[in-house]
Amino acid sequence: MYNSPPRFCSGCGQPLAPQYVVVEQRERLVCTVCEEIHYINPKVVAGVVPTRDGRAWLLRRAIQPRLGAWTFPAGFMEMGETVEEAARRETFEELHMDVRITGLLNIYSRREAPTVLIVYLAEALTEPTGGSEALEFASFDPESIPWRHLAFWNTEAALRDWVQSL
Ligand SMILES: [Zn+2]
Repeated sequence: MYNSPPRFCSGCGQPLAPQYVVVEQRERLVCTVCEEIHYINPKVVAGVVPTRDGRAWLLRRAIQPRLGAWTFPAGFMEMGETVEEAARRETFEELHMDVRITGLLNIYSRREAPTVLIVYLAEALTEPTGGSEALEFASFDPESIPWRHLAFWNTEAALRDWVQSL
């Protein structure tokens, strides 16, 4: 879930370089030729903890980064959809499962992180059959969550919040 900063200007194609922008009082990536400022802001990642009968469905990532680690369905929000729609779409892509969102679990950000993760609680409406981004999937009760094999810091934080919410 990481994206590297652009190296070239989207306007004129010339190299970008860090430069202190006085009116904004911070360093920005600025084109060395046309001086256009290239803003880098965190991206929204939408996720769902899909549950049924007190168990949460997780999947093991089939893609890098953190290939093989466990997580709940989540992915980058696209233009033209709401956060909830992004969360449901990612759940269908990764687990082939329909969910009904029942509430907001929490929002996860860190100063050094390039993403803001928004996680919903959801009721699993169908059995998952798995998508191309899942090596395998399984449901876990709070006692059996694979804490030592989770994908990201915010995966663990969200699942701890889910356990707390029970
Ligand atoms: Zn330029």
